[in-house]
Amino acid sequence: MPFSVEFNPPRDEAGEARLWRAVREFERMHPAFVSMTYGAGGSTKDRTVRVTGQLARETTLLPVAHLTAVGHSVAELRSLVGAYADSGIRNILVLRGDPPGDPLGEWHRHPQGVEYAEELVRIVRDLGDFHVGVASFPQGHHRSPDLDTDTAYLTAKLRAGAEYSITQMFFDVEHYLRLRDRVAAFDPVEGAKPIIPELMPITSLRTVARAEELCGRPLPSAVLERLRRAAGDGPEENRAAVRAAGIEIATEMAERLIEEGAPCLHFITLNFAKATSEVLTNLGYGVRAAPVSA
Ligand code: FAD
Repeated sequence: MPFSVEFNPPRDEAGEARLWRAVREFERMHPAFVSMTYGAGGSTKDRTVRVTGQLARETTLLPVAHLTAVGHSVAELRSLVGAYADSGIRNILVLRGDPPGDPLGEWHRHPQGVEYAEELVRIVRDLGDFHVGVASFPQGHHRSPDLDTDTAYLTAKLRAGAEYSITQMFFDVEHYLRLRDRVAAFDPVEGAKPIIPELMPITSLRTVARAEELCGRPLPSAVLERLRRAAGDGPEENRAAVRAAGIEIATEMAERLIEEGAPCLHFITLNFAKATSEVLTNLGYGVRAAPVSA
């Protein structure tokens, strides 16, 4: 079973050093690809493009650049895609993005920009030979009126030329399986495209808040209860026990997803390698020697 990891653009030199430590750790584990998120509204644009280009040129990894429509005209979006192409990047995860500052706030398109990710998929595909992925939402996107409408919009992005989707993070595997069934029932051709589940090992109660922000929803009560039990009743959270429970939960979810035939496991790393490598070790992934070239 292939796995892949998500990185975030570093904000400063120290963050960049930390990212590279994680990159070198993962490089030894041969992920299928690594993705680099795009900061809200292009706040870290130059650093993001430069570091993603370095991943393409200076590592053995296959980078996937996230691209969002927030605050960009179509001309700027085209030029960003051009900058990625110049750095040797051919894989782009196309997203609309959220309003900067408040992800749940009102969305305003750029006056010369796009309204939906579907339009950006077409733009990127028209620009050249890019492999395009899109976002999918196991519990539906928070702005979609219902799950059927959400499925129709996801299918439209796939029909526009996306080859796969990566899901929003989730903590109940049933939600992923139901998403997969919905897309297959709505359109068997598009439903055959890979839906890659996104996982994040929880390492502290503070990461619970981050996870809920990224899920756009509270964690299932059974998961929360398990983490809170591990944290204990003392004045200080039992960090080691919460971390162990978080790794165990991610491992169990990954095992079920493998059993259910998920095409790849995509891990949010927050630019740290340790927690994800522990889950991968539990699953039997080891550090493999680099393939010998003929
Ligand atoms: P869209 O597919 O455009 O959907 C946006 C909303 O419009 C949805 O409610 C949808 O149902 C609705 N909609 C879609 N098409 C239509 C239509 N034709 N008519 C009417 N309504 C429609 N954000 C970042 O800022 N940077 C990142 O790097 C980033 N990476 C992400 C990676 C993953 C795997 C995921 C799941 C999300 C990521 N996000 C990122 C967050 C993402 O940008 C937000 O969730 C955003 O709100 C939705 O993006 P989208 O591409 O799904 O938008």
